[in-house]
Amino acid sequence: MQSSYKVLAFALVAASSFTSVHVLEFCQSTDSDCHSHDSTASDNQLSPHTVKSRWNISVSNLLKDLDQFRVSCKKLIEAFPIDEVDGNFARSVKNCIFSRSIPTPLKGRLRLAAASKDVIEGILDLDVAVTQSDDFLHYASGGRRLSGSVPLAHRYGGHQFGYWAGQLGDGRAHSLGQYTNRRGEVWELQLKGSGKTPYSRSGDGRAVIRSSVREFLCSEAMHFLGIPTSRAASIIVSDEPVKRDQFYNGNVKTERGAVVLRLAKSWFRIGSLEILAQSREINLLRKLVDFVIDEYFFSISQDDPDKYLVFYSTVVNETAHLIARWMSVGFAHGVCNTDNFSLLSITIDYGPFGFMESYNPNFVPNTSDDEGRYSIGAQANVGLFNLEKLLLALSPVLSTNQQKEAKIILKGYGDIYQMRIHQLFKAKLGLLGEEEDDGYLIAFLLKMMEDTQSDFTMTFRQLSEVSARQLHNRNFTQMWALEDLSSHKLFSDWLSIYLLRLNRVDLKVPLLRQQNDSDLDRQHRMKNINPRYVLRNWMAESAIRKAEVNDFSEVELLHHILSFPFVTQETAEEAGYAARPPLWAKRLKVSCSS
Ligand code: AMP
Ligand code: MG
Repeated sequence: MQSSYKVLAFALVAASSFTSVHVLEFCQSTDSDCHSHDSTASDNQLSPHTVKSRWNISVSNLLKDLDQFRVSCKKLIEAFPIDEVDGNFARSVKNCIFSRSIPTPLKGRLRLAAASKDVIEGILDLDVAVTQSDDFLHYASGGRRLSGSVPLAHRYGGHQFGYWAGQLGDGRAHSLGQYTNRRGEVWELQLKGSGKTPYSRSGDGRAVIRSSVREFLCSEAMHFLGIPTSRAASIIVSDEPVKRDQFYNGNVKTERGAVVLRLAKSWFRIGSLEILAQSREINLLRKLVDFVIDEYFFSISQDDPDKYLVFYSTVVNETAHLIARWMSVGFAHGVCNTDNFSLLSITIDYGPFGFMESYNPNFVPNTSDDEGRYSIGAQANVGLFNLEKLLLALSPVLSTNQQKEAKIILKGYGDIYQMRIHQLFKAKLGLLGEEEDDGYLIAFLLKMMEDTQSDFTMTFRQLSEVSARQLHNRNFTQMWALEDLSSHKLFSDWLSIYLLRLNRVDLKVPLLRQQNDSDLDRQHRMKNINPRYVLRNWMAESAIRKAEVNDFSEVELLHHILSFPFVTQETAEEAGYAARPPLWAKRLKVSCSS
């Protein structure tokens, strides 16, 4: 009795210390039509066979000639006034959403460092063989203009690290136009690292190889984890020297320029609206919100007098869901400024992100973030901060009553997030149905993980792979994360509760009470939600080091492996991607410099 009391007291402490962040639950999206987050982790459980057949089906119809590939900028250009000034010099821009801006071609020899077949063929309807052509190198790095393209740089602002930063904008990105694919989906193509624009401020308009490889790999990995995200089609690297002081310590190094061709249904951000509200361009603000609703929030009617409120409510809901999904895979974005938060609630602008290894709510991936503002455990609250800023930006188009209602909607954010995270973590533990103590069970586990510094990804994965019998016998041979976790003095207490909850084992008679296939079902469910491979910093770093000397083999390997994160793969095992991270991984740092 006494020991169960102790466990209870401990778990309450654990649960309360998680506040809004760790234990979360689910609420159905109120608007499933709206910019549907089309993939789920289980959708992505494609066997290599499925992928092959999907690609095979379309191969014959794929475009082989890039000169025939057409994008359109008509919608974006006709919907809004365009910056009247021309030229890529830094300036303050008013009364427009976009500036025309010609990309600056990369200098020196160009090389294809990576291409995503899934994007090139599945979204762009191009035969992946075109990526091997010289044409592709130029089209995908800004040296040649796609048919129909009028390259644009977007004007936006943002709150950075809690403070209004004024005009930011696409300082090194160019929107090339929209492509409507054979499935009728409209994607906006963008180059990142393609040279200066009116929004470059003191920047050089470039991106280096390391940050480009990280964005490419991570955005694709997130997609295959089932998390709403921008996509990446390719990376082109050059010999153009780009100077970077990576850790802001005066140690300037010459790196090389690279360009990522990336795609999203839309690149509009919270900061896209903020800049218009801040500069009192209210007609343009209304125009942009109307455009966004019309183009991306299909279930909202333009005639609805509450359309801006419904729009806000949808973004609140979807943002809560997105951040819960991040937390469920241990993803820390690193720079959750309002200019990096999409209005479509997809993950955008990959910079100093990180996947948490040892479980630690204070994990901060960005070494430049001294105060830990964007620690993994703070992301839910930062989402709230950003949604407050979105509400401020929308206020000029909301009536006084609607503003009051919007505040009430925002108050519901915490509950949506909690419900969603609770649901996700329950699924990570294979729990079906709902029992009173489920939150306690989850919080208890996370607290033990924190105390034992257990690896976030592999603890859940190994719990998915272990049988109930092995669990009961504490047979964790070769299960390094579970070995770490089981060193906790309360592990046996937690295990008893967990096994009882799974209803698999009668503790008095340690035999399986139910058929093996039930336990297999649990394992199967859990393996489809708990990845075996995520993009750990050390994995990216190793691939980057090789890419910097023009060996792109590891980028390709990682890209392939992370396209099947839930499937155990021999090459990944050989590379140690599911093993205990190497010691040198602990010394790795990433910063905002990119
Ligand atoms: P980020 O931290 O990448 O989200 O960028 C924040 C802002 O800085 C955006 O307006 C970027 O376009 C701009 N920016 C970042 N790096 C550069 C660069 N090398 N040249 C010009 N603008 C940049
Ligand atoms: Mg950004």
